[in-house]
Amino acid sequence: MMQRIAVLGATGSIGDSTLAILAAHPQQYQVYALSGYHRLDKLFALCQQFVPKRVNVPAAAVDDFAQRLSAAKLDIEVVGGAAGLIDIATDSQTDTVVAAIVGAAGLPSTLAAARAGKRILLANKEALVMAGQVMIDAVKTHHATLLPLDSEHNAIFQCLPVDIQQDSRQIHQPKHGVRKLWLTASGGPFLQQSFAQMQKAGVAEAVKHPNWSMGQKISVDSATMMNKGLELIEACHLFDLSEDKINVVIHPQSIIHSMVEYSDGSFLAQLGSPDMKTPIAHALSYPARIDSGSQPLDLYALSGLEFIEPDLQKFACLRLARQAMQAGTQATIVLNAANEIAVAAFLAGQIRLTDIADINEQALSEIQVPLLAASADIEDILSIDQLARRHTEALVAKVAKSI
Ligand code: NAD
Ligand code: MG
Repeated sequence: MMQRIAVLGATGSIGDSTLAILAAHPQQYQVYALSGYHRLDKLFALCQQFVPKRVNVPAAAVDDFAQRLSAAKLDIEVVGGAAGLIDIATDSQTDTVVAAIVGAAGLPSTLAAARAGKRILLANKEALVMAGQVMIDAVKTHHATLLPLDSEHNAIFQCLPVDIQQDSRQIHQPKHGVRKLWLTASGGPFLQQSFAQMQKAGVAEAVKHPNWSMGQKISVDSATMMNKGLELIEACHLFDLSEDKINVVIHPQSIIHSMVEYSDGSFLAQLGSPDMKTPIAHALSYPARIDSGSQPLDLYALSGLEFIEPDLQKFACLRLARQAMQAGTQATIVLNAANEIAVAAFLAGQIRLTDIADINEQALSEIQVPLLAASADIEDILSIDQLARRHTEALVAKVAKSI
């Protein structure tokens, strides 16, 4: 059966990898809708290539984009802004939503897709960091399907038995013998450098990841290891575990994408080239398999696999993520929001790379928000997010002035 796909964040790095796979399997997948926020020329080219039925652009760009499409004789409906994103995510014609928007901006459409009972391929980890329980509850209540695209979570998913894949709460059944999850991390571009060197790093060095090619925000998060912190929180929600059941190990080759440790001493790992096309193809075709177009792993060419314990002083963001997860969702919302503001300030040249962890830590300790009730909804979440953003902007301004 033809699967109709909406790719939210089609102009980004995950969007690229997803569309490359969809283009290679036109009999199985129809590109039903696309969204883009920046680089609208690229979105226009994607519209020419895939001719989706609907496309989402920022509200201010709707008229212009619609004119360009009609001048090119492309019959594609243009929907604008955040409401338009939700519209295509919940469209009755959409079977699968690829949630590949970066940051908090991806939350409302991802949650709406869950509430519409869609099959969701989740790259937007920030949605789970902000609204983990709300998202997981929505998936269960509305019989949606949530499949992780993040390579680590996808690896863990693949290493778990079908019972747990279908219902994460099964992970607590003693018969399955799941003892721990191991998230692997590359350690980013500063693994072999001192804190002082990291402090002096410019944007170009920070976003130059040794193994993966990704968007700017996640590349900076990888350099500070905030990415692994966000992934730790993501894993807690996806696999229904507390943070003490999830270990992080640095594995600089990025060949093992993560592991599950079982009570009999077995460690199951998923291996592959560091290419997002593999987890995306897995999730698109699950439970079947399709060709992803990624380079197969050349085992004879691998010189060795290393494992290193992370230095939590140098990579304080990882420690902060555990701390926030222990404190509760209100704290993970604050951490995510503070980090987005701090990363944007680093990319704009206002603060140093190492200031990001300090700012995140200050935000966590200074921003007082009440415990979030189990009944909390997206409005409550977004109001904490906004509060944390305003507070962090003031912290950034102070740091920027002092350097
Ligand atoms: P990217 O910056 O390359 O692309 C982001 C996409 O989101 C673009 O299409 C952009 O137009 C859109 N976007 C940005 N701001 C928006 C807004 N305010 N409203 C609507 N759309 C907006 O990012 P990416 O590297 O593709 O990452 C996307 C998500 O996937 C992130 O959450 C990231 O953590 C996650 N992820 C990425 C990778 C990777 O290899 N790139 C791996 C694992 C997880
Ligand atoms: Mg990852």
